[in-house]
Amino acid sequence: LHNTIQELRGNIRVFCRVRPVSSSANSTKKEATTAMIQYPDVEGRQIEFAHSTETATGSQIDKAYPFTFDRVFQPSSTQGDVFEEISQLVQSALDGYNVCIFAYGQTGSGKTHTMEGPLNASSESRGMIPRSVLQIYENAKALEAKGWTYTMEGQYVEIYNETVNDLLGNDGLDSGGGKKHEIRHGANGKTTVTDITTVVLTSAEKVTALLKKAAHNRSVGSTQMNERSSRSHCVFTLRLAGKNSITDESSEGVLNLIDLAGSERLSQSGATGDRLRETQAINKSLSCLGDVIYAIANKDPHVPYRNSKLTYLLQNSLGGNSKTLMFVNISPLKSNFNETLCSLRFATKVNSC
Ligand code: ADP
Ligand code: MG
Repeated sequence: LHNTIQELRGNIRVFCRVRPVSSSANSTKKEATTAMIQYPDVEGRQIEFAHSTETATGSQIDKAYPFTFDRVFQPSSTQGDVFEEISQLVQSALDGYNVCIFAYGQTGSGKTHTMEGPLNASSESRGMIPRSVLQIYENAKALEAKGWTYTMEGQYVEIYNETVNDLLGNDGLDSGGGKKHEIRHGANGKTTVTDITTVVLTSAEKVTALLKKAAHNRSVGSTQMNERSSRSHCVFTLRLAGKNSITDESSEGVLNLIDLAGSERLSQSGATGDRLRETQAINKSLSCLGDVIYAIANKDPHVPYRNSKLTYLLQNSLGGNSKTLMFVNISPLKSNFNETLCSLRFATKVNSC
């Protein structure tokens, strides 16, 4: 029955995650800086986002915006709580499915925290990428008794200004020494990126070193790492090929975990040169992603994968038999009210199809 319900609802899920107010924020100012957010249902699927003004007798709600998602995570939710809800999806990559998990939201809303977690993280605060690798590694080991052996290969690329960069390479990103990487789709449904570094993951621990290398590469050639990462999409890809020596079965699955560029509406006015090109590339690729997911969910005969590098790269992992999950990460701050509302609306468009 569970599977039937899943079929009926399609293969697209949207989870909303609200990040906590950072501990460094002045706690006496907390009330004034926090937007009114309520979680009305016990199932944890609804969020009510309200604009309020302070009056002499307290705050008064001007207008409330209710939203429903597949799951809403409150600020108190831990990385473990979140992973629990995606672990089945992660498992399905080992069973031969192609899976995409996105983090969408404005800069500072918690996308990187959700996907990677802090570098040098304690095991509790690790993000979805290291947790996924660990779970897959453990499950693959358990399947050895049934005759399965798996190879796990990891790649990590950045899409910046519609150019694909290798986050695990040794040749710099856009410093001029970087190689040109092309996206190719083979007749067998396999996607390859030319000249890309592939790391064979022989242990779950290896992923930590890999994330650090990617962070180092991202910071080279840019003045500020945060600046750079808010303007590029980072795609972590895990390829899982399994073979069963007893039954001769084989399986191939792909898990993509994507930390998207910041969704804040970037004004083109005033921007020139590199900055204008960057801005246009981000605006275009995020709206292309929305169009692609929308077309898939509406069963449109034409899905516009080719309109951006991101959707072209993920073509074989979006639509068809693939499974997609989008996190919409939001900030609880009043100053972010308009951006948060935009994010919730984007996610609702994706969710309602
Ligand atoms: P983004 O990648 O969307 O720009 P970050 O993941 O870098 O945002 O988050 C911004 C800041 O908020 C970081 O300092 C991060 O550690 C913190 N943060 C985000 N989400 C959480 C959370 N759920 N719990 C604790 N801290 C968080
Ligand atoms: Mg980030």
